[in-house]
Amino acid sequence: MSTPPFELRGGTIALGKVPVLSGIDLTINDGEFLVILGSNGSGKTTLVRALLGLIPLAQGELTLFGTPLGRFREWSRVGYVPQRFSATAGVPVSVEEVVLSGRVSVARRFRGYGKDDREAAREALEAVQLAGRIHDPVDELSMGQQQRVLIARALAGGPDVLVLDEPLAGVDQERQGNFAMTLSELNRSGRTVVLVAHELGVLQSLVSRAVQLGDGRIGYDGPPLDEHFHIEHIHHHPGIEAALPNLPPEAR
Ligand code: ADP
Repeated sequence: MSTPPFELRGGTIALGKVPVLSGIDLTINDGEFLVILGSNGSGKTTLVRALLGLIPLAQGELTLFGTPLGRFREWSRVGYVPQRFSATAGVPVSVEEVVLSGRVSVARRFRGYGKDDREAAREALEAVQLAGRIHDPVDELSMGQQQRVLIARALAGGPDVLVLDEPLAGVDQERQGNFAMTLSELNRSGRTVVLVAHELGVLQSLVSRAVQLGDGRIGYDGPPLDEHFHIEHIHHHPGIEAALPNLPPEAR
């Protein structure tokens, strides 16, 4: 059994001074297809960003592939697809250029992209069914398509782990199904897949493990359950929460 891609022990993650999550023990094993579930504001994005070293831990220890975060250098093994497409600020960038940017840690720097890089980019775009759009400006694509371009960018680097934050948000039902199958194939071909989702939906029969966040901690960790198929939308109102700090979460 190879080293777990992520191992977090006694993790407390705070945004500003407010702990969003505490007492987090989470080992993500090689080859898993794991979904992090929870209602809006439960801390899914926060957890994922902490696992990637993008938010410092207030407490606890994190290792990536067995190496403590501070000494970890093999970032090309980790592909990350953030929640939203960061704007290209009016610069017309092609789909291919975005995907090729995922090769930077692999490509020989200063020599530009080579044939291997372009092949990897094309394969990654095929995996997300966008090969036909390779030369189009990325801002001409729909949000769902742009999301898939970001996934292709992460795939192009040939990562061992793929971490995706809400990749299914704003994607229509049919494409969700296709996309879930694509992720499942990537997982079967040996990649660890960690995905943030509001609820399981189309992923129900595909994932091996569900981790559900609630009340600032891990409330469930195990095989996906029927109740994870659809999770009630809870809208948090930080202003109201701040004004009523003593109410139990279920009363808010
Ligand atoms: P999820 O991904 O499950 O919707 P988030 O991780 O985005 O949840 O947010 C977790 C909590 O942290 C929420 O209560 C949210 O209001 C709060 N939060 C998010 N971003 C910030 C920030 N930059 N500063 C302070 N609090 C934040």
